[in-house]
Amino acid sequence: EKVKEEPEEGKGSNIFSFIREKTISEKDIEDILWDLEMSLLESDVAIDVAEKITDELKNQLVGKKVKRSTDIIEYTQEAFKNSIRDILTVNGKDMDSILQEKQNKKEPFIIMFVGINGTGKTTTIAKMAKYFLDRGLKPVIAASDTFRAGAIEQLTHHAEKLGVKIIKHEKGADPAAVAFDAVEHAKAKGKDVVLIDTAGRMQTNVNLMDEMAKIKRVVKPDFIIFVGDSLTGNDAVEQAIKFNESVGIDAIILTKADADAKGGAALSIGYVINKPIIFLGTGQGYDDLIEFKPEWMIHQLFT
Ligand code: GDP
Repeated sequence: EKVKEEPEEGKGSNIFSFIREKTISEKDIEDILWDLEMSLLESDVAIDVAEKITDELKNQLVGKKVKRSTDIIEYTQEAFKNSIRDILTVNGKDMDSILQEKQNKKEPFIIMFVGINGTGKTTTIAKMAKYFLDRGLKPVIAASDTFRAGAIEQLTHHAEKLGVKIIKHEKGADPAAVAFDAVEHAKAKGKDVVLIDTAGRMQTNVNLMDEMAKIKRVVKPDFIIFVGDSLTGNDAVEQAIKFNESVGIDAIILTKADADAKGGAALSIGYVINKPIIFLGTGQGYDDLIEFKPEWMIHQLFT
């Protein structure tokens, strides 16, 4: 186990400090910063995010006094890992705090899922239903993507397989009315969690965002989760920005992490949106959902 070298700050006035210390120069870390930026880019982290992360690291390190014996390369790598951890350690609710909150709340806990079609939103809702079932809570699903008949069918299929109640209307019905009915059902039947699916058609963005805003206004969700496909990299970041601006998101789930060996979208989204990534989807099965940990990202970058 390596002992981390601590900088000797505040001891600079000592006349022997120049013997014990050295100051990190830009030249000292030029190459390693370049390597680190490359590792970010190779992991598909967005270019501007990769640049900002390494620039911030440079600003933090240049001029810093460290023990003379410090291995600058190692020191920089450790500082880099710490900035990745910092970026991905966002204050916000995780599932544990939500479960806690639910215990103290009589009303059902309402979660609204937003995201573009094909990212895995429907599957993720099914996984979340299973997650709550496994924890002894009773979920109900709202099929508020009334734009596509396929979405209602698919969600119904998942709900039946999981033995979870689904509230649905006809295709074309008012999505907010479906969500409202699901909440009423949950209140009447003592259900714990309402999981609201929403539409994710890409071509009519303005209408879509209005629709999201209406659902939000009508049911006042406790938590809004953006679902993004980690394979789509920067597109996922752009989508997250849009949904965050229009409806506001509380947390992020990234799907298809099993198929994405690189994982850079997580860091880009974490950096840009500054909301916690709570889960990663790791397959098509209902149990293929893992809690996101910043160490996962560090592992992706260094292996
Ligand atoms: P939606 O249109 O956003 O609701 O997307 P779906 O839930 O229908 O998912 C689209 C496709 O991605 C389906 O074939 C899912 O099985 C698949 N999928 C969803 N999540 C994951 C995941 O975490 N890993 C993998 N490998 N496939 C996934």
